[in-house]
Amino acid sequence: MPLKVNLKAPNGRQITLPTGLFINNEFIAATNDRKITTINPADEQEITSVEAASAADVDKAVNAARAALEGEWSSIAASDRGALMYKFAQLIEEHKEILATLETWDNGKPYQTALTEDVPEVIFTLKYYAGWADKIYGQTIPLTSQKFAYTLKQPVGVCGQIIPWNYPLAMAAWKLGPALACGNAVIIKPAEQTPLSILYLASLIPQAGFPPGVINIINGYGREAGTALVEHPGVDKIAFTGSSLTGKAVMKLAAATMKNITLETGGKSPLLVFKDADLDQAAKWAHGGIMGNQGQICTATSRLLVHEDVLEEFISRFIDVISKHKIGDPFSDDTFQGPQITSDQYQKILNYVETGKKDGAKLVTGGKPFKNVGGSKGFFIEPTVFSNVTENMTIFQEEVFGPFVSITPFKEEAEAVRLANNSSYGLGSAIFTRDYERVHRVAARLEAGMVWVNSSNDSDPRVPFGGVKQSGIGRELGEAGLAAYTQTKSVHVNMGQLL
Ligand code: NAD
Repeated sequence: MPLKVNLKAPNGRQITLPTGLFINNEFIAATNDRKITTINPADEQEITSVEAASAADVDKAVNAARAALEGEWSSIAASDRGALMYKFAQLIEEHKEILATLETWDNGKPYQTALTEDVPEVIFTLKYYAGWADKIYGQTIPLTSQKFAYTLKQPVGVCGQIIPWNYPLAMAAWKLGPALACGNAVIIKPAEQTPLSILYLASLIPQAGFPPGVINIINGYGREAGTALVEHPGVDKIAFTGSSLTGKAVMKLAAATMKNITLETGGKSPLLVFKDADLDQAAKWAHGGIMGNQGQICTATSRLLVHEDVLEEFISRFIDVISKHKIGDPFSDDTFQGPQITSDQYQKILNYVETGKKDGAKLVTGGKPFKNVGGSKGFFIEPTVFSNVTENMTIFQEEVFGPFVSITPFKEEAEAVRLANNSSYGLGSAIFTRDYERVHRVAARLEAGMVWVNSSNDSDPRVPFGGVKQSGIGRELGEAGLAAYTQTKSVHVNMGQLL
C-alpha cells in the first residue's frame, strides 16, 4: 500500500500527503494495522487515515534517534546545525499555503489565522533558535593558581516530545527549535486529533538536509505510542504539552526511568480590569484572549475579574465586540471562529454551560450550539459569557477550553489579586490599568508564569513561556527554553602536582 494519499482540500488545493511514520528520514508503515482516521470538525466528514505507531514503532524511532546522536549529527558544527534549521524554516515558508490548508482542515481554525499567524510563528521560532545554535556555551571558572574548571553545555540526548491538537504546527516548532539548536535528536508524537499538517512538515526534513534519525515524527494514540515513548529507557527527556491530568500521568510514568521532564499543561488565566482601565482596549483584548482559536488556548484569559464600578460598562463593550465576530466556514476569509476540535470537546463545553447555570451564574450570551448556515454539521458553539460568577463555582475553577468566559466583580485591588490567585493553575494573567505603580505591584503578586500588561495572550519566540503551580514545569521559548535541552558538564582541570 502506498504510504501517501492525494487529497483535495475544501479550498480546492490538491495535496499529496505522506501518511506513514517518519523514522530515519523515511515514511514507513506501522508494525501493526492501527490507523488514525481524522475528520474535518467543520463538517464531521472523514479526511483520511494515517499510520498509528505501536510500542515496536516507538522502539524503532528511539533506535534511529540514538544512532543519529552517536553518528553524524554530533559531529556537525553548531553553525551548520543552525544553517539546517534556517533552511528548514525557508522550506516551510515556500510551502506555507499547503501547511495552513492542512492545519485548518484538520483542526478547524480559520485559514487566515493559520496562514498569517500559526505558520509564520513556526518560521520565526525555527529561525530564532537557528541563531542560537552556535551561541550555546559554558563558562570558565578560575579556582586557584593551579586549578580551573570549565563547563560544557551538552545536549540532553534523545528527546520525546508529546504535543497537543490546538496548535499542531506551532507546538512542534516550539519543541523542535530549542532541541535541535542544542544538538539533540527528537521523536515527536503529535495529537491523534490532528495528524496531518505535521506529516507534510516531515516531508520537508530531508530536503532541509537533516541526517536520518535526527527528527522522527510518529503519529499515534496517547495511551499506546505516548506511553511507550515516556516509558522507553532509551529516551532521555520528555517534553509534554497537553492537559494537567495527562501531564501528571506522564510525570509519574517518567519517574520510573528518572527522565528529565518539562510540562506545559492547563490554565485558567485571569484578566483583571481595574476601574481606571481603557475599557475599549480591555474589551478587545479580553475578546481575543478567550475567543481566539475557538477558546482552545492553554493561556486563554478565561476568568475576567472586573472592578464593580465599571462592570456594566465593560460587559456591554465586551458583548459588542463578540457580536461582531463571524462564526462559520474556517476557509472563509472573514471567519473569526471555527468549530471546536472534536465532538467530545464540544460536548464537554456544553456540559459546562449546564453546570454554570445550575450553580447560579448568569448566562449573558451564548451557551448553545451554533447552527451553521446551510446545515447542522460541525462542532460550532456560540461564544458564551457568564457573569455573577463566584470563586467557588466549577466554571471559575475548571479549564473549559472553549469560547467560554466567566466574569466576576471585585471591589479592591487586594481582592482582585486574591481572586486571581485562587486557582490550582498559574499560567498567564493580564492586567488592565493606567496606573503603572499598580501594574508592577500586582504583576509581582500574581501567581503566574506570564503577565500581560494592557494586552492578553501576547507570545513571542524570544520571550520565555510557561507556568507555575499545576500549569507546568520549566519554560519554553526564549533563551530560557534552551535550559530544557542542555545539560551542564563540569570539567575540573588541575595543572599542579600533589607533593
Ligand atoms: P491530552 O493531554 O490528553 O493530550 C495531549 C497529548 O498527550 C496528545 O498527543 C496525546 O496523544 C498525548 N497523551 C494522552 N495520554 C497520554 C499518556 N497516557 N501518555 C503519554 N501521552 C499521552 O489532551 P487532550 O485530550 O488532547 O485535551 C484534553 C484537555 O487538555 C483539554 O480540554 C484542555 O483542557 C487540555 N489541553 C491543554 C493544552 C495546552 O496547550 N496546555 C492543549 C490541548 C489540550
